Amino acid sequence: MKLSKMHLKTLREVPNEAEIPSHILMLRSGMIRKLASGVYGFMPLGWRTLRKIEDIIRQEMDSADGQEIHMSAIQPSELWEESGRWSAFGPELWRIKDRHGREFCLGPTHEEIFTDIVRNDINSYRQLPINLYQIQTKYRDEARPRFGLMRSREFIMKDAYSFDRDQAGLDKSYEKMYEAYEKIFTRCGLYFRPVEADTGAIGGSNSHEFTAISEVGESEIAYCEKCSMAATVERAECVDEKPQTDVQMLEMKEVHTPGTKTIEEVADFLGLDQKQTIKALLFVTYDNEENENGYVAAFVRGDRELNMTKLVNALGIPEHAIEFADEEKMAAVTGCVGGFTGPTGIHDCKIVVDSELVGLKNLCAGACKEDYHLLNVNYERDYKGDIVTDIKTLAEGDPCPVCGAPVKHARGIEVGQVFKLGTKYSESMKAYYKDENMKDHPIVMGCYGIGVTRTMAAIIEQHHDDNGIIWPVSVAPYHVIITVMKPDDEVQSQVADSIYKKLMTGGAEVLVDDRKERPGVKFKDADLLGIPIRITVGRGASDGMVEYKMRRDADKVEMTVEESIKKAI
Ligand code: ATP
Ligand code: MG
Ligand code: MG
Ligand code: MG
Repeated sequence: MKLSKMHLKTLREVPNEAEIPSHILMLRSGMIRKLASGVYGFMPLGWRTLRKIEDIIRQEMDSADGQEIHMSAIQPSELWEESGRWSAFGPELWRIKDRHGREFCLGPTHEEIFTDIVRNDINSYRQLPINLYQIQTKYRDEARPRFGLMRSREFIMKDAYSFDRDQAGLDKSYEKMYEAYEKIFTRCGLYFRPVEADTGAIGGSNSHEFTAISEVGESEIAYCEKCSMAATVERAECVDEKPQTDVQMLEMKEVHTPGTKTIEEVADFLGLDQKQTIKALLFVTYDNEENENGYVAAFVRGDRELNMTKLVNALGIPEHAIEFADEEKMAAVTGCVGGFTGPTGIHDCKIVVDSELVGLKNLCAGACKEDYHLLNVNYERDYKGDIVTDIKTLAEGDPCPVCGAPVKHARGIEVGQVFKLGTKYSESMKAYYKDENMKDHPIVMGCYGIGVTRTMAAIIEQHHDDNGIIWPVSVAPYHVIITVMKPDDEVQSQVADSIYKKLMTGGAEVLVDDRKERPGVKFKDADLLGIPIRITVGRGASDGMVEYKMRRDADKVEMTVEESIKKAI
């Protein structure tokens, strides 16, 4: 491909809206184009890299017995009603109506659709196991789309679903996907850790998040360099099996705290000591079968981060029973980082208590009501019952729970997640198979996601320098860029052309920078685009000499045209 003919616009300046390297570099190198907040299009270079990542994913999914299909992004609400998620999913679900008023959503994920396929097509144990996957566009109306492709509202995901006859089958399918994910992310050039995503009540190995280590990541993980231990920093561990339902609120006082957003501001406003504030006091009201109301509460001290997903997992609350509140709204209401509201049908309820809060009296907490907080919250008085859950922290330097070596902390990007769903969807949506004795059983499911576009961003986060991207060869949009110093010079242009043809014949993907630009501009662009090999054709061309440079190395080497071709293929 000749750069003079390519639709490419690079930017010298850092675009205003971009804060992190991957976002800045993708915009500067003209790979992506913004259409609206969290909505991006792909330009030639970006699209090529994206397809390379997709190819790696396809190859590994296919060798793990995955079968690719392609479903619509538009999903009818009826299927979501069946699974219970139409009402349970929060504002992230992008709902639309057709001209007849029928309701649909733009799929944020496809459990319902794949379960529907399988319940229609599969009836015998003989047809199991199967693994179906797709690489497809997903929609999530994120509260805060940011960082370009990292958290967007339209993004490409690989989602796979496994269907087995029993738990042992699921364990095998899960293991296969886990191994495929390790190969995929390794081939993409990522330094990553599979992190246990559910500890505590649900059990240790139901889900893993594949986390690419990076300062800009939103997850904080504790990991061990000696063994494979990796966990989220805050691990909620359930110590009591029994659900606690006889909680009731007493004597707490609502106070008006207008204009306060964070718990620190509330403490200031009320003249409280930080220790007296609770980061979040969350009530999940629920109806049980006898229509009794109850709630789940979480106490977390003001100076701790609260990971709502972890808490919900630790509580063992079924996903369909929870509606995550708008994060921004909850932050305003409770001064906490996340929250949930309004579930129905939870029959068991537990309380999560940060052990360090036990015994503290007259605390202040969020009231789940705008501009109000609760004063005078007392653990034993306002919440009867035992502490059933404790939140443990794996601090840096703590002994690794597996091998004893000191634990390290790092930030990371969730590029993928594997999850043992069990029979949650097959039971609610009636996906059954018949065994050898014609007896019906719910199909046992797993689901496995990879953020394809987010993976592309994560690769850049790990592979760049001040001058631009440094693509790993496996996902580079082109392997070689031939920079022609003087494209008007007949010898230079002929030498460049012959190198180009020979490299292409050898299977390399090649760009020729034949633009009438100053050499400085061309070198800057070559660095920005991050093409792994640069061959410079300049004055030496008349003696059959060129300059060879790897993007990741500083030094350039003079060599003959033939040598450069041999080296690049
Ligand atoms: P996050 O915790 O970052 O919100 P998630 O846990 O909600 O992600 P999953 O439902 O596990 O995401 O989806 C599978 C994969 O899709 C994620 O591991 C991630 O790589 C990707 N993904 C999820 N949300 C987004 C998004 N808004 N933009 C880009 N990729 C995303
Ligand atoms: Mg999410
Ligand atoms: Mg997540
Ligand atoms: Mg996830």
